[in-house]
Amino acid sequence: MSVTFSELCEETSAEEDCCIRGSGNSANRGASDTDIPVDLAAIKAAVRIILRAVGEDPDRDGLLETPRRVAKMYAEMFSGLSLDPGRHLEVTFEESYDEIVLVRDIAFTSMCEHHLLPFRGVAHVAYIPDGRVTGLSKLARVVEEVSRRPQVQERMTQTIADLIENRLGSKAVGVIVRAEHSCMSIRGIRKTGSSTVTSTMRGSFRTDPASRAELMSLINMPE
Ligand SMILES: [Zn+2]
Repeated sequence: MSVTFSELCEETSAEEDCCIRGSGNSANRGASDTDIPVDLAAIKAAVRIILRAVGEDPDRDGLLETPRRVAKMYAEMFSGLSLDPGRHLEVTFEESYDEIVLVRDIAFTSMCEHHLLPFRGVAHVAYIPDGRVTGLSKLARVVEEVSRRPQVQERMTQTIADLIENRLGSKAVGVIVRAEHSCMSIRGIRKTGSSTVTSTMRGSFRTDPASRAELMSLINMPE
């Protein structure tokens, strides 16, 4: 889903936002050309508080627009909170194919809920149809929307698997996510280049070693 955010989020009403350009017309507060269920004014006010708390002057020229930009960024990064990613799996097609369907290397960026820092990587999503298939791009859409939430990688992996298992009624579902967490690379232990891998296996991918081995060989197959 592409979401466009209008410049109307310059609207101000909170006292903390008085430095931001805009008339402060509260009638349009938070309005935009898409209905964003995010309180942009509250985020802007909070960013100003953070800037002050770290010793910055939120009223200096370079920071004047920062609260507005951060509010828009969070609205975009967390847009998945107000969406049901499972709706992409509602349209299915009857198909006798009953082998592995795998979409590899679905790139995503999500947000670690512990630090509100991004983690980025790829998801491999596989299932074995039980009479019905979905469009391949729909699997990528599910990953994209699930990623737009504050979360941990473990739950993200399970959420994607749950959606496919529940909506498609597949014989097997496998989701493997590999990501680099900036909360590990830019702060704390500061280990760049390390990646975290999580996997959720359902159905025969979980119970049948041969089925799981076939999936792993397909995921690791050269391009
Ligand atoms: Zn973190």
